[in-house]
Amino acid sequence: MNAPHERDKTDDQGRLRPGESDASGATSARNLNFIEQIIEDDLKSNKWQGRVQTRFPPEPNGYLHIGHAKSICLNFGLAARYGGQCNLRFDDTNPTKEEDEYVTSIQEDVRWLGFDWEDRIYYASDYFPQLYAWAVQLIKQGQAYVCDLTAEETRAYRGTLTEPGRNSPYRDRSVKENLDLFERMRAGEFADGQRTLRAKIDMASPNLNLRDPVMYRILHATHHRTGDQWCIYPMYDFTHGQSDSIERITHSICTLEFENHRPLYDWYCNALGIYHPQQIEFARLNLTYTVMSKRKLLTLVKEGRVSGWDDPRMPTIRGLRRRGYTPEAIRSFCDRIGVAKFNSTIDMAVLENALREDLNRRAPRALAVLRPLKVVLENYPEDQVEEMEAVNNPEDPSAGTRQLPFSREIYIEQDDFREDPPSKFFRLAPGREVRLRAAYIIKCVGVVKDDQGQIVELRCTYDPESRSGTPAANRKVKGTLHWVSAPHAFRAEVRLFDHLFKVMDPDDVPAGADWHANLNPDSLETLPACCLEPRLADAQPGEHFQFERLGYFTVDPVDSRPGHPVFNRSVSLRDTWAKIEKQG
Ligand code: ATP
Ligand code: MG
Repeated sequence: MNAPHERDKTDDQGRLRPGESDASGATSARNLNFIEQIIEDDLKSNKWQGRVQTRFPPEPNGYLHIGHAKSICLNFGLAARYGGQCNLRFDDTNPTKEEDEYVTSIQEDVRWLGFDWEDRIYYASDYFPQLYAWAVQLIKQGQAYVCDLTAEETRAYRGTLTEPGRNSPYRDRSVKENLDLFERMRAGEFADGQRTLRAKIDMASPNLNLRDPVMYRILHATHHRTGDQWCIYPMYDFTHGQSDSIERITHSICTLEFENHRPLYDWYCNALGIYHPQQIEFARLNLTYTVMSKRKLLTLVKEGRVSGWDDPRMPTIRGLRRRGYTPEAIRSFCDRIGVAKFNSTIDMAVLENALREDLNRRAPRALAVLRPLKVVLENYPEDQVEEMEAVNNPEDPSAGTRQLPFSREIYIEQDDFREDPPSKFFRLAPGREVRLRAAYIIKCVGVVKDDQGQIVELRCTYDPESRSGTPAANRKVKGTLHWVSAPHAFRAEVRLFDHLFKVMDPDDVPAGADWHANLNPDSLETLPACCLEPRLADAQPGEHFQFERLGYFTVDPVDSRPGHPVFNRSVSLRDTWAKIEKQG
């Protein structure tokens, strides 16, 4: 299950080794990033009278993903760091794609990540009356006009990167005519797409965004908050900066795609003569082996490629949460990858390492056998059961110990036995000894096969002198295996996950195919009847465990029932066995 690209920079708990940096080159004790530098300079020069006011501005057209988490951590984090405030603002200007379901889930996810907007929750749609008034102001100033070109014509008139655009034949309409037409657009006299309101800037500008951009379009659609009150809707560019202005944002942080929208952001603020925040762009987060566009994530959900937005394989906050990610792990990841001005792709292993580090500290250890192979200890008394003491978390002595029942019949992992072992295989094989975690040393003395030659049972002996915790237990044996007592085992479903996509860059597709071709058909493996140590029967939804030698697991909050937990593997441990298998 482990990705071959995962580098050997971690110890066996998956922690970065001392002196190693992750893919981003970042370490946690870091220098100021360029945005912090801007803010500190502004504080020094008193540019904003000491204020730091940021906002997180999602469009409610999907669930939040790990990329949004980066923006959330950045905006709320900067506000917290500099004694400022961060608003939550829904950028809801597109009635056809937005829904209340998303508004609700976004709030839950931001809160779950550990951030608080207090009473500062805003909606761009609440600003529609003000935006309309500002549009009228620009018409009156001769800086906006109603245009009758169709969408196609508008595109043709816009020109290209190498050719200037041409003026719309409607560009020189009188203020009076423009006011009248705009009013009638609002009143619903015209069909969708029949007219637009455009800013009168410069059709020859080298920046296409300044070639008389559309400010308003006609759309007879019901909005999730304003209902049928409006049939004209402002474009993103004529909404975002103005909303920032209304909320007196100081640093309006957005992703790099908006860099060449900044002149327009500034033009609108200047033309309207309103409070003017500073737009600052940073590189969006891209991760290997997954997609981050909401459109693609929605497609995966709609086509049933995943079980929903909260499928544990999804890069959504919900998916990661269900997978077993903690807010701490996600925040630490966002801190570690830092903030840059050029786009790059972060290795998924960096995210996984952040989770390992966090769960290593908090997850109690447990023994679980995913693919059971029965072992009968021939010299162990038939009806005897011993209680073996096991440490709950070597990282946290306060977690204490627990008792594990041990008996004549136990299960070990099928993978932990080879009849014909490769050279560096330190697990069980005929005639060989291994240690059972917190129990005894056993030796394989026989192999039982069925009619097809499949191994169905091992016959072993145990060394009664080797009980864990006694001096004789310390004699040298190469391997230590996890196990579960057969009559005491609790049977449960365990789900293992692999990357959603087979390749690092899902958009890198063979000619003629699309990104679907890169989906990993084996991203989910369900093991219906794993054998777990008995206390796991009481595991509660959302609880984390380290199944020794197998990884970190979390109780699925959706499919578990009282007394019937289902376990998701959150992340594997760094798997040294997989490498040995390949060599052998
Ligand atoms: P998508 O392209 O997936 O639809 P979006 O950028 O349109 O995403 P928004 O809801 O508009 O999604 O994003 C809200 C905020 O989150 C914006 O400020 C945006 O810049 C930021 N954001 C979105 N995706 C990322 C990402 N991958 N990395 C960092 N920030 C992001
Ligand atoms: Mg957007």
